Amino acid sequence: MGYCFTNTEDGDLHVKTHREALQKRLGLDALVFMEQVHGDRIEIITRSSSAPRCDAMLSTLPNVGLVVMAADCIPIVLWDSTHNLIGVVHAGRTGTALHVGQKSVLQMMEHFGVNVENIHIAMGPSIGVCCYEVGKEVTQGLEQCLHVKNERYFLDLKKANEDDFLALGIPQANINISSVCTCCGSGYFSYRREKITGRFGGVIWQ
Ligand SMILES: [Zn+2]
Repeated sequence: MGYCFTNTEDGDLHVKTHREALQKRLGLDALVFMEQVHGDRIEIITRSSSAPRCDAMLSTLPNVGLVVMAADCIPIVLWDSTHNLIGVVHAGRTGTALHVGQKSVLQMMEHFGVNVENIHIAMGPSIGVCCYEVGKEVTQGLEQCLHVKNERYFLDLKKANEDDFLALGIPQANINISSVCTCCGSGYFSYRREKITGRFGGVIWQ
């Protein structure tokens, strides 16, 4: 089992080539990408799954990598080694308000019988509260991660997702959060900063 957060240079003409190169580099039989729609739909991946329209995937398949793409949103990978279960979650503002990460963990527990203490989580580089200024009108459901400074509103998405996981009883020690802000950190893709940009891939496999 392994995971990584990697730049994918997601240029229009070269997406397929880059994805194939990534699969080859990781030595996997397949990579499954999502058609991400900022929702809370979770798909359980089978051999035949290809680019499901969802924002979270779970799988017990060996040698098949699950991929979440992000540029500011949080790419989350999850795993439970006792059940050979892996997952990815795409958590932006909307997905976080819908608790897509928390729902994915609940699915791991309810569908696969995973013990919450065996679940591990890694959150990749994403936009930090330092840079994620939003209009007040989009903060509904996210009040717990809202910071107000001089009548400006900033969201702490990492904290919101962490709180959702802790609320389920996942041990703090099992949650690893990248401190990188994709917007003000150098060398990262940021939708907020660049508008037209590449993406990070968060990949997990076993
Ligand atoms: Zn920042």
